Amino acid sequence: MSNGQESPENVLSRRQERWNEADMLRDSRILEHTHSFIVEYNFKTKYCFIDPAQLKHVYGDWQNDRKNNDEKNYRRVVLQDDVEAVEAFFDFSKLKAGESRSMDARFYVKAHVYEWFRVSLTCYADEQGEKERVLITFTNAEQEMETLQKLKFLLAKDPLTHMPNLDSFMQMTDQMIQAHKDLSYAIIRMDIDKFRMINQMYGTKEGDNVLRYIGVKIQEWAGPILEISTYCRISSDMFCVCMPADASDVQELMDFIQNSLRAYPLKFDMIMSFGVYITCEEDRSEHIPVSTLMDRAASAQRTVKNSYRNHIAYYDNVIRKKEIAEQIIVSEMKKALETNQFQVYLQPKCEMDTGRIIGSEALVRWIHPSQGIISPGEFIPVFEKNGFITELDYFVLRATCQLIRKWLDEGKKVYPVSVNVSRTDLYNPNLLDQIKDCVAEYEVPHDLIAFELTESAFVSDNMQLYNLAKRMQENHFRVLMDDFGSGYSSLNSLREIPVDILKIDLKFLPPSQDDKRGNVILHSIVEMANRLGLEVIVEGVENIEQAEFLLSIGCRNAQGFYFYRPMPVSEYERCLEEKPIEIKERR
Ligand code: C2E
Ligand code: MG
Ligand code: MG
Repeated sequence: MSNGQESPENVLSRRQERWNEADMLRDSRILEHTHSFIVEYNFKTKYCFIDPAQLKHVYGDWQNDRKNNDEKNYRRVVLQDDVEAVEAFFDFSKLKAGESRSMDARFYVKAHVYEWFRVSLTCYADEQGEKERVLITFTNAEQEMETLQKLKFLLAKDPLTHMPNLDSFMQMTDQMIQAHKDLSYAIIRMDIDKFRMINQMYGTKEGDNVLRYIGVKIQEWAGPILEISTYCRISSDMFCVCMPADASDVQELMDFIQNSLRAYPLKFDMIMSFGVYITCEEDRSEHIPVSTLMDRAASAQRTVKNSYRNHIAYYDNVIRKKEIAEQIIVSEMKKALETNQFQVYLQPKCEMDTGRIIGSEALVRWIHPSQGIISPGEFIPVFEKNGFITELDYFVLRATCQLIRKWLDEGKKVYPVSVNVSRTDLYNPNLLDQIKDCVAEYEVPHDLIAFELTESAFVSDNMQLYNLAKRMQENHFRVLMDDFGSGYSSLNSLREIPVDILKIDLKFLPPSQDDKRGNVILHSIVEMANRLGLEVIVEGVENIEQAEFLLSIGCRNAQGFYFYRPMPVSEYERCLEEKPIEIKERR
């Protein structure tokens, strides 16, 4: 090597020697231990060196293969599915000096057996920077790939039912819808009404059995049309199927599932609610995400969940319009609050026989610049879902405190105002402190502010609510149980519930001449409340008959359209100045 140059023959023979050494090392099982072998290809000599011990994997004369561009030999050692990728990998025509790349492919190892190999190559340059040789490493990755495949399988499956899970369902469904652009698909979302009860009554093991059973039934039904359908367990008792939207097939599936559930040996009337969305041309052309299609099926399903009559709902224009209206509400709510579009209305509460106003309830109204007055029934449920209710309730509380402060400063007689506390506010641990701070800022005496907590919340979120109500009372705020009759509180529970006033809603307990039992119930509630020292107020009083009946059973106070509707503050102030109308004048 006097001039630093070595003849190609020398290089090759030295390399051959080295490889002979490697051969010996193989005997000492090092190569086997590492599951690797190396192939070297020289661009100049066109010589391809393959570890002789591994020729069984890479057999054939590679050198000649490349020269003659005869790629048939690849096909003998590479699994058919991987041939194309391997050919592209070994196309050295565009390979640059210094470049490295790697791939995974399945190579022949013995009769009918192919194993995964990770193939990596690096192209080395000569001293002039020209590409000289490629060093290729084959590493057996069978075990690694096996683990990976298992992991992939596990990640794609729901461990309980072995059905595809939500992620893999969404992927498969997207591919399927895109691959069959001419087909309209039905996305069917389903779950069991009151599944929680099954777990509670029969234990979670039995609950799991029911879920597995449904999984089997869905697979039984959709299995034969697997090519054009997908299904999954979304979570808990929620399942989803996507299948071609043939109306009778869709109905057949739902009947099949419903009947299968009836046949399940459990003394519990299991009923499934189904929500169906049928894809349209626009979904395909605009590639609407599967999650959105599923949301639409869910919106339809919500309209029949726990309903006694209907168990199947299709997403239609009514639901679409409601969703659009909700979207508008959500997109405008923040700006509306900033620009004073929300206003507090007051609905007077009065003594029925004297007609005297004894207080009021603050009820929010959205005065929309183009749509006019929007009633809380439309936006409160949306705000409860997205959490904005917390901000709105705080706004109402603040506006109410400001108002009371103004009245006090003007030297007026002030009657208590109650504000509603949404059930979502219950999860705010700082709620009471925020209320106290706000009330203190305007120096409002605590007995002039009351809080209305809805009865149904007492049933489901009891601990939070009990604690809140109790702490409110400790701070000398009055607490009302709103909408009494809407939930399932037993009369007995009234003993412990920390409230001062029971607000009975006639919507839920309507008195009527034909409904003697209803009247007896109402009578008993009023009597029991009076005996327990709870004040009672009845809301939703709409006519004189109701008012007189209520008076006859010992109920004195009411809030209702018959007396006053919710009104702007200025109007309320006017009402206070008017002479009250006694009930005998109203007859
Ligand atoms: P609620 O707290 O039970 O309020 C009473 C609702 O009954 C009011 O409806 C009122 O207008 C209505 N009402 C009063 N008297 C009668 C009557 O004689 N007949 C009939 N049919 N209805 C009567 P509104 O103002 O539409 O409020 C509906 C619900 O929205 C309220 O029920 C309350 O749950 C909620 N809400 C209203 N304002 C607020 C608020 O500022 N914050 C929160 N969290 N909820 C509010
Ligand atoms: Mg209320
Ligand atoms: Mg109410």
